Amino acid sequence: MKVDIPIPCPSCGGKMYSVAYNPALKILKNRSWHVCKECNFERNVEDFKKAICCA
Ligand SMILES: [Zn+2]
Repeated sequence: MKVDIPIPCPSCGGKMYSVAYNPALKILKNRSWHVCKECNFERNVEDFKKAICCA
């Protein structure tokens, strides 16, 4: 599953895309993160959401 929404990179202002990883083991949580196409900056989506709700 991949949702390609343009998200501005906080590091360089380039476009970021979302990556989702669905582990085969159910004990592991699904992971998703944003990756910048320009500078490879990465951020965890959960941390990003926490930053938004606590701002
Ligand atoms: Zn960037």
